[in-house]
Amino acid sequence: MIVKDQCKSLYAPWRQDYVTKPSEEKEMTTNKRNCPFCKKDRELLILEASKSYLQANKYPYSAGHLLIITKRHVNQVVELTSLEKKELFNLIDLSIYSLDILMKPEGYNIGCSIGRIAGESISHLHFHVLPRYKGDVGWNRVCDFNVVSVAPNDLAKNLKCIIGKNKLAKKFGLFV
Ligand SMILES: [Zn+2]
Repeated sequence: MIVKDQCKSLYAPWRQDYVTKPSEEKEMTTNKRNCPFCKKDRELLILEASKSYLQANKYPYSAGHLLIITKRHVNQVVELTSLEKKELFNLIDLSIYSLDILMKPEGYNIGCSIGRIAGESISHLHFHVLPRYKGDVGWNRVCDFNVVSVAPNDLAKNLKCIIGKNKLAKKFGLFV
């Protein structure tokens, strides 16, 4: 991430594709037929469990930004079965464990956006696992930061390797 104009604006080039996408294309993400999360992106896929899967975010907010995505096209937490809820939390645990090994962040934001007003861009339930680093772009801080950027495809490959090598799917109770 680069700071331009003495901390007046932020430049995150990896988000440019998404930001410049025509709004009609973003609108289509509510439609199951055109939903990018219903068709998995094999390049970004890290782990496929029985009810959900883990992938690197194509448009990361920070280095190591992961997404946990339900396999069913639902957009409300209340629609999840107890097995889906359990698996989501197991995948959050596994994400933090493996990112701690690979990226060594100092904190995390975990969450999801439901509804346009909350910033939802794809109407298919997904949880963000956002690693945080000392001095990065906080919610109320835009200056004096230094983020190491990692290409999402490389992140996916490295995490797949860590998860496989340490047998983490089994350790975290995921049936893959
Ligand atoms: Zn979908």
